[in-house]
Amino acid sequence: MLAGGRHSTVEASNPGRGGTGRGLSGSDEGHRELKRTRYVSGRVTAPDAELNAISCAVRLPVKQANCQHIMVFTDSMGSAHRAVDPGVHSGQAFSLSVCRALQEWFEADDLRRITFVYVPSTLRWDIHGEAHKYVTKLKVRAGRLLDSWSSTFQDPTYRGSEFLELQQPDGRPLQPSYLNGGPWLSTFGHSITEFARVCWCITGHAPIGAYYRRFKINEPHGCTCGAALQSRQHILLRCRDRYSVHYPRFLGDIASFMKYNPTAFGFNRDPSGVG
Ligand SMILES: [Zn+2]
Repeated sequence: MLAGGRHSTVEASNPGRGGTGRGLSGSDEGHRELKRTRYVSGRVTAPDAELNAISCAVRLPVKQANCQHIMVFTDSMGSAHRAVDPGVHSGQAFSLSVCRALQEWFEADDLRRITFVYVPSTLRWDIHGEAHKYVTKLKVRAGRLLDSWSSTFQDPTYRGSEFLELQQPDGRPLQPSYLNGGPWLSTFGHSITEFARVCWCITGHAPIGAYYRRFKINEPHGCTCGAALQSRQHILLRCRDRYSVHYPRFLGDIASFMKYNPTAFGFNRDPSGVG
């Protein structure tokens, strides 16, 4: 990305791959380059990377004392529209910072204006092409995302102290992964309501007695079967009102438990409990 007193040009590269390199520079009326910079925005989506780039392209020139007209050259007009839209959307924080910067800038002088110009990156046009070259020279190592995810997952304060530990078919602990949709989503993703119950069950946030007791919610702690405390373990293994075979070790066990107990861990009360 290039940005500056009179011209700003925006370029994002390799978005969503663990590293997004961007450059920022600018030129005044005589095409003198004012500033050039590039940085890594981390693991973000492509539209958010573009928004971030545009936000920088705007916030730099508004600080230039003699700047009356900002031109932003970008290959993403969708992101340009979002950049000046303060409504709710992904990357809204970037848009809000653009809007705030522009609002103050416009208020100071009625003649100030901003123009977004669409430049396809494939054209490699002038300063936009130069920005592209500058940005793509920055090579960023994507990092071992899965490794860091798995090691962070070992920390109960990150995972959640109540997280239900399950095993892979080979007996090793189940680890988070995004491959093939990840183990949890690929097993339960077909039904939103069932997946919600599974999430509540696995993370320990199901609307059951133990949860009400833990968070001091004014709801009964006992189970419909008469047990004093309706814990997850009780529901999965001991409850006489539920059909279960054994304590779940695998995702498949949870799946069959949910199938045979379609109200378990959900907000719907058992049919017997509904008047
Ligand atoms: Zn029970």
